[in-house]
Amino acid sequence: MNRITYNNDFLQNYCKENNILLINAYNNINRDTRIEGNCLIEECKYNFNKVFRQLVKTGGYCNLCSKINHQNKIKEVVLNKYGVENVFQLNEVKDKIQKTTLLHLFSFKTPNLNEIIKLFLSDFTPFLI
Ligand SMILES: [Zn+2]
Repeated sequence: MNRITYNNDFLQNYCKENNILLINAYNNINRDTRIEGNCLIEECKYNFNKVFRQLVKTGGYCNLCSKINHQNKIKEVVLNKYGVENVFQLNEVKDKIQKTTLLHLFSFKTPNLNEIIKLFLSDFTPFLI
């Protein structure tokens, strides 16, 4: 694994490769220097302000666009894994929520009564149990 030297040359190269437009000029920078620049999303009017190491890790996006990118990545992963955009769209999860809600609504302190409720629920809605 190559070790990154967080210096001015690396910053200039990084910005050139990733089309990042900086707002300030920097001298004597290190990995903890805060870097300011325009957000990479063209329609976005905000700037990013991150420490150099974080900029390299997450890219030149403002806070809002970083959150949107994060949500899109979650959607993509869930879509690839489960075939839906949100896990709450899965029938398995919906059933589990319904089952838990019903059990909480009818929960009693006596364990036997809970068993009776489970049996009652299973008779009418076998998919819940
Ligand atoms: Zn942005």
